Amino acid sequence: MSDCLFCKIVDGEIPSTKVYEDEFVYAFKDINPQAPFHAVIIPKEHILNSAADVTSENSAIIAKVFEAAAKIAKENNLDKGFRIITNSGEYGAQSVFHIHFHLLSGKFLGDNLINV
Ligand code: 5GP
Ligand code: ZN
Repeated sequence: MSDCLFCKIVDGEIPSTKVYEDEFVYAFKDINPQAPFHAVIIPKEHILNSAADVTSENSAIIAKVFEAAAKIAKENNLDKGFRIITNSGEYGAQSVFHIHFHLLSGKFLGDNLINV
């Protein structure tokens, strides 16, 4: 998608700090980290705007994202664990509408899933 920030990051039009890349998936450091380790994992192709668009026809890419997440965790020694978050839509406070998954770690992230 021509006007999508994350498509521009995949294309290299906007620079990013790469964490992981394969045929299907790209991951990079979040510009505004919410934890000592904060990567954003995205499908390279803009197939889905958000988790609300997942169907049986396109869900294989979600498995690719989670395969990548496990590899990223191993490569970065996140052996004490991590959290994966995907924001969807207005109530989810999604700001970029190219589906993405936040991989957070580097410290104990707390017992509360969210702050409201
Ligand atoms: P959302 O709020 O949609 O779940 O997540 C979007 C994320 O993209 C935010 O955490 C934000 O910090 C990150 N982000 C926005 N613009 C850029 C950018 O230009 N480069 C990088 N690396 N991250 C970005
Ligand atoms: Zn996109």
